[in-house]
Amino acid sequence: MTPGSSPAVRRLDEWDADRLERLADAHDTPLYVMDHDRIRENVARFTGAFDFAHVMYAAKANTGRAVIRAVHEAGLDVECAAAGELHRALEAGVAPQDLQYTAVNPPDRDLDYAVDLWESTPELTVTAGAPMTLDRLEARGFDGRLAIRVNPGIGTGHHEKVATGKDAKFGVPYDRVEEVVADARERFDLVGLHAHVGSGVLADDLADHRRALERVAAVAERVGDLEFVDLGGGFGVPYRPDEDPLDLEAVAAMVADVTADVDATVALEPGRYLVADAGVLLTRVNTIKETAGARVVGVDASLSTMIRPAMFDAYHHVHNVTGAEREPVAASVGGPLCTSADVFCTDRPIPRPEAGDLLAIGNVGAYGIDLASQFHSQPRPAEVAIDGDDARLTRRRETFADLTRLEDEAPGLE
Ligand SMILES: *Cc1c(COP(=O)(O)O)cnc(C)c1O
Repeated sequence: MTPGSSPAVRRLDEWDADRLERLADAHDTPLYVMDHDRIRENVARFTGAFDFAHVMYAAKANTGRAVIRAVHEAGLDVECAAAGELHRALEAGVAPQDLQYTAVNPPDRDLDYAVDLWESTPELTVTAGAPMTLDRLEARGFDGRLAIRVNPGIGTGHHEKVATGKDAKFGVPYDRVEEVVADARERFDLVGLHAHVGSGVLADDLADHRRALERVAAVAERVGDLEFVDLGGGFGVPYRPDEDPLDLEAVAAMVADVTADVDATVALEPGRYLVADAGVLLTRVNTIKETAGARVVGVDASLSTMIRPAMFDAYHHVHNVTGAEREPVAASVGGPLCTSADVFCTDRPIPRPEAGDLLAIGNVGAYGIDLASQFHSQPRPAEVAIDGDDARLTRRRETFADLTRLEDEAPGLE
């Protein structure tokens, strides 16, 4: 199968169970597993569908060095929405001219970093979403490539916390874009407009998404003389087993149609779409408790390991790798933290989990390990990359010593 023809969806039970058991035995749990072949397939499918666009990887979905490298080696430039992401992309070996920086309420230290980088790399494009950010860039001597982030006033996505398109925090209000662009043209090399309107967009959201993009395209036509119009990311993946994958060809046709009269390159910044289904989280069952309502299944992963269910009410499929053939029972799977938010699923039919079983939680390659914390003094998990038959540790498991390291190094605590 050529990469471009890879299936648009990869379900959790398609992962090789024996391999997952071996990885868990070798590296312990909880463990993130990233399949780099799948990342490359996703990149190829996306760039195949959007062959008219400049596609960049939005690094915040997964900023791991190995992941950034895999995506960059597959041919994509990297969109960074924080100076720390620029730093991590550079550390991953991405050439500075392959980076773009989008500033959202940028702290001084972030702007300083970006302007320093621009001084040696004039190809760097900086995207700003507030007039004051233009002043702060100018005050640092920046007069380089600039894009203005537009707030189209319409947001889309899987959860209100990610529907950025109508949130006043993001971008220049729609009716002020032309004025801000005119001002920016006096001071910078104005090369583009930018909009990122939401995340996790699936078929049901496409009509809204189209309306948002139409507004961006309309203002792009009005301001004219642009090198690119960047329509952001937001391409959704099916988290539930019965959800259909996004019809990329249809979305590409929609984007091409909406931008038909825009005389500029279309740029896109998918994050989630490229990496979500390339990742699984392996976790071991440690405790079983029978209650009247459900089988309560205690595992060694927690909301500190993967917070999306607690933070976004996100559905993540849970698969019993060890006992896939058993009869399903209603199971509530949760971690070791003392908060009722620490559950991955409630009363969900899962092949009867037993103590010692290995469970896999699907679609965690995006916004998984990057949102992991040490809350409740949980050392953060390890990550393994699989690449063909090869497997390598790409992030070591934290130890208890890592929990206290920053205090150990602070002078105030002898
Ligand atoms: C988060 C983000 C993206 C990527 O969003 P996905 O939903 O992961 O595709 C793209 N552009 C910007 C500016 C972002 O902040």
